[in-house]
Amino acid sequence: MADFSWEALPLRPELREARPYGAPQLDLPVCLNVNENPYPPTQAVIADMTAAVNQAAHSIHRYPDREARTLRSKLAKYLGHDLTTDQIWAANGSNEIWIQILGAFGGPGRTMLSFTPSYSMYPEYARDTHTGIVTTSRSEDYQITTAIALEAIAQYKPDVVAIASPNNPTGTLTDLDVLEEILAATTGIVVVDEAYQEFADAHSALTLLPQWPNLLVTRTMSKAFAFAGGRVGYVAASSAVIDALRVVRLPYHLSAITQAVASVALDHAEEMLAQVQYLKELREQTMVKLWGLDVTIIDSQANFFLFGPFPDPHATWQALVDRGVLVRETGVESYLRVCVGTGEEMSIFVNALSDVLTMERNPQ
Ligand SMILES: *Cc1c(COP(=O)(O)O)cnc(C)c1O
Repeated sequence: MADFSWEALPLRPELREARPYGAPQLDLPVCLNVNENPYPPTQAVIADMTAAVNQAAHSIHRYPDREARTLRSKLAKYLGHDLTTDQIWAANGSNEIWIQILGAFGGPGRTMLSFTPSYSMYPEYARDTHTGIVTTSRSEDYQITTAIALEAIAQYKPDVVAIASPNNPTGTLTDLDVLEEILAATTGIVVVDEAYQEFADAHSALTLLPQWPNLLVTRTMSKAFAFAGGRVGYVAASSAVIDALRVVRLPYHLSAITQAVASVALDHAEEMLAQVQYLKELREQTMVKLWGLDVTIIDSQANFFLFGPFPDPHATWQALVDRGVLVRETGVESYLRVCVGTGEEMSIFVNALSDVLTMERNPQ
């Protein structure tokens, strides 16, 4: 069949040079590149999920609950902090949550501020919602200091401030007192992306919600919760903010199957999160092994960390791929990012890296 060329499409000009986002999905034995929990659900949870899908299939000819109230009430209970169903909203991954947030609070003539390096999707959310984006560099050790934040807010007067904490790709936290200074300094909303909060030893920004009507805290079931394939992200905020998101969401955006399976996962929260403590310990153990190889690590509160520096990080990435190990190039200069897999996967990673370093440091 004849096909048409991309170049000939009457595309929005800003999309002409764009290509679909995504980490390479290579079929390698050890994949440590997208920060998943490496442990599948237990047989008992799989059986309950299967039963829930079966149940949902009986009424699959009907539209799902547009408000996803059962799922949202379970998410509220999981988060605690006295949150109610009206203060929670859920969507297909926190990616979709962010598009809805910018759909409601961003848009043409409005600006989002982020502190780089940070999550590579933020500029895409902005672009797709016609929101302007401005960025300010973090400090040398990848922190957002009060001074950096307040200066940027005064300069740009953003409508939306985006803060990932722990931050991806650096793993660094933003302290709650810094967040409060930011919340007080802006007339816009502040979105704290806590995708990795379950891996952190720090209080959640959820504790600030009662005092700050302009605070939104996003979470995901994709990381610690071991539910990346299920596609559920969510946000906690005032019920007024949630009502605003309900205006811009597509009707019936969360399928009956998604709602049913995610509800089962939340009923088994303890089992879904059972490996989190172990993964945190494994993060520390892996860091120690890398220090032993004379590798520098950026201290992280997430289930991944940056390691380096490498004179040619792409060459090191490729050499690891050649040994069956997939890590991530994040654009942070001379560093690569690895996420914590199973104990066995981390041994394979450390051995492969040791091998690569020996080769790189002793060129023939
Ligand atoms: C992985 C990640 C998410 C999660 O995205 P989902 O769409 O929920 O899978 C959100 N924010 C950050 C910073 C992430 O790294």
